[in-house]
Amino acid sequence: MNKVKNIDVVNMVNNYINEEKRQDMKTELIFLGPPACGKGTQTTKLAEYLHFPHIDTGSLLRAEIAAETPAGIEAKKFIDKGNLVPVELVSRIIKNRLSQEDCKDGYILDGFPRSLEQAEQLTKINNEINGSTQVRFMAIYFDIDTSILEERIVNRRSCSKCGEIYNLAFKAPKTQGLCDKCGGELIQRKDDTREIAHSRFETYDRETAPLVDYYTKMGVLKSIDANGTIDEVWERLLEVIK
Ligand code: AMP
Repeated sequence: MNKVKNIDVVNMVNNYINEEKRQDMKTELIFLGPPACGKGTQTTKLAEYLHFPHIDTGSLLRAEIAAETPAGIEAKKFIDKGNLVPVELVSRIIKNRLSQEDCKDGYILDGFPRSLEQAEQLTKINNEINGSTQVRFMAIYFDIDTSILEERIVNRRSCSKCGEIYNLAFKAPKTQGLCDKCGGELIQRKDDTREIAHSRFETYDRETAPLVDYYTKMGVLKSIDANGTIDEVWERLLEVIK
């Protein structure tokens, strides 16, 4: 029964997105929610599903750090403390990424904006890039019981090769330490410790949570209940974007 319902929703979402593509309408989906609320897992899945690029600022910044670029060296100082990287730095990275050809029909933005100032930057960047293109913009908020998030964070592992996310408590890999998808080594993010997690939650409450109100007032916010299994949240996500 559940499966049939899911297939119906999947078809509806496909029809909607295909219709938008036919009408030359661009789809911009942004995601809000506290650290470890499940955004990364769901947006990766959604991007594959809709054939839109998945743009995740945390991963873009970690790639800069790994490549030891000047931006990466600067960003690391903030990430290691659980603070936000300066707005100019992250906006520059986002503007470059959103200007690329693969974002022409739409994108899924995960982790940006994370403050009111970044939200204003995003509007500016979108206006510059889009010109007269028709856009469907939606902010999706993952509403979740925050008391479970610290345990999620310390149990989180990700594949060093393909980025697939695991959780030792509820989505363990079949072989310990190795990615089910590509066999890559699983690693723990440096900022996924209890201490840095506390600071990330404080940063979220102070800087990012006000965006829920901001996008509600703009009339573009959709909330989903992000408690439950990956499959349950996935179904709710498809329902709101259809
Ligand atoms: P995430 O992978 O989304 O949990 O992000 C990891 C860290 O990268 C955050 O704790 C911030 O330090 C930094 N970061 C990610 N996205 C942004 C952003 N939009 N603005 C500033 N810092 C960010």
